[in-house]
Amino acid sequence: MKKLENYLNANSIAYSADDTERFELLYAVLAEKSKLFNLTAITERDDVILKHFIDSVSGVSYIKNNCLDIGAGAGFPSLPLAILKKDVDFLAVDGTQKKVDFLTYAAEKLCLKNYTVIHSRAEDMKDKRESFYTVVARAVAPLNILCEYALPFLQRGGRLVAYKGAKTAEEVDAAQNALTELGGVVIEVADAKIEGFGRKLVIIEKAKQTPQKYPRGGNKPRIKPL
Ligand code: SAM
Repeated sequence: MKKLENYLNANSIAYSADDTERFELLYAVLAEKSKLFNLTAITERDDVILKHFIDSVSGVSYIKNNCLDIGAGAGFPSLPLAILKKDVDFLAVDGTQKKVDFLTYAAEKLCLKNYTVIHSRAEDMKDKRESFYTVVARAVAPLNILCEYALPFLQRGGRLVAYKGAKTAEEVDAAQNALTELGGVVIEVADAKIEGFGRKLVIIEKAKQTPQKYPRGGNKPRIKPL
């Protein structure tokens, strides 16, 4: 975990010896279940540390109050974030049962009391509307589609932290209509400062209430994106 610790130190991110142990345990749990659950193509230890752990924690300074991870998959970015932010309640949602089974298993093994898991499509979770200060998502959908999933969950003034890559500028441009429709504003595009990894974090603030008609059902956000 030296590389992870170096990144945390270099970016003044607080962590304890207990956290480092939990990251070791998370690596062990992933290695144990990855093939069985077909969770992630990234399995080599150095790659997991860089492309899953360091990448995930790069957004930690934006996480406050409570946090929803949409399409959490094998738990990224929310499991590493939940290890570091024990004062924040995390909810991980994924539409795939085997991912949810893994997330439940991992959270239990890591004794993460601040981590809950739900099996659902994000657009079907009507009871969680305007319930979160922070929403995170990585590798789930292009930004315009992601905004329709995410912005309804945010309280006014809350923030979406979208983990994006090489096409960030194009995605931000293409999301302008969705942002206007849904009441979001891009307040920052931050470089995650990970060596050899071009991660950008797009921070979107919910400036206005999202109209009730969003998110649309029947997979419309993907079929007919805003
Ligand atoms: N965020 C994880 C990561 O970066 O490693 C997983 C990324 S994986 C490529 C996309 C995940 O999003 C899948 O597990 C899929 O089931 C989930 N997903 C996609 N659309 C979703 C939706 N509308 N609601 C819930 N889960 C969704």
